[in-house]
Amino acid sequence: MACGLCQLDRPLVDSHLLPAAAYKLAREPDRQNPNPIVVTPGHAGSSSRQISDEFLCRECEDRFSKRGERYVLAQCARPKGFALRDVLKTLPPLVENERFKVFDVTVSVGTPVEDYLYFAASVFWRAAARCWTLNGQTIQRLTLGPYEEQLRKYLLGELPFPHEVRLFVHVWSEERAGFTSIVPTSGRAPDGTHRHKFTIPGILFIILVGKTVATEIDAGALNSNAGSFMWLCPWSKDSLFEGMGALVMDALRARRGRRQP
Ligand SMILES: [Zn+2]
Repeated sequence: MACGLCQLDRPLVDSHLLPAAAYKLAREPDRQNPNPIVVTPGHAGSSSRQISDEFLCRECEDRFSKRGERYVLAQCARPKGFALRDVLKTLPPLVENERFKVFDVTVSVGTPVEDYLYFAASVFWRAAARCWTLNGQTIQRLTLGPYEEQLRKYLLGELPFPHEVRLFVHVWSEERAGFTSIVPTSGRAPDGTHRHKFTIPGILFIILVGKTVATEIDAGALNSNAGSFMWLCPWSKDSLFEGMGALVMDALRARRGRRQP
């Protein structure tokens, strides 16, 4: 069988839709949330069963692990702390209001942007590249059109991250939100743009894809033309992008204005 990523005929190993570490976190004993949930569309019950199948070769699994997964899973919400949020709290917010804060993490030590980009790409791509099942139920397969193949080549190091995909990283602001992970799901933004998202404990990853996102939905993205941004906001109120991008653009314009002599 050919590996889904490198497409070479190699022995396949048991591959996960979400990193095994996310399931391990879901099982961590936590007084607030003793039976955490891994939600799947059409199956909103609680389950810590892993979604996995023979899909990738050992080399590609190692590539995923070394190029983002290990790092990001160490930075997400864990029983003993939440390293990424601690880093954000040391930074001055670019935008701040009662709903959210936006940080420019471009030069921040402790937030290697490429690791987050690679990790998110690997999960979204996995959710698009094949059908996954849990307890005999098929999980929604993402439709990424031409970006699926572009992401595959990016993950192999053959292409840069697709220009027409914008990644938004929302760090949960709730102090005690548990260790929920949610597999990738798809929806439409109010303006009709395709939006896909998933969460691991403490971090919500959202991609918007399409020919216009690089110009119209660029503000506040981790791979924005203007910098690398992360958001601190309540994940329980995940109604996004309602005028938030405009606020970020205004802040960037104001910052550029301040820098001019
Ligand atoms: Zn492979």
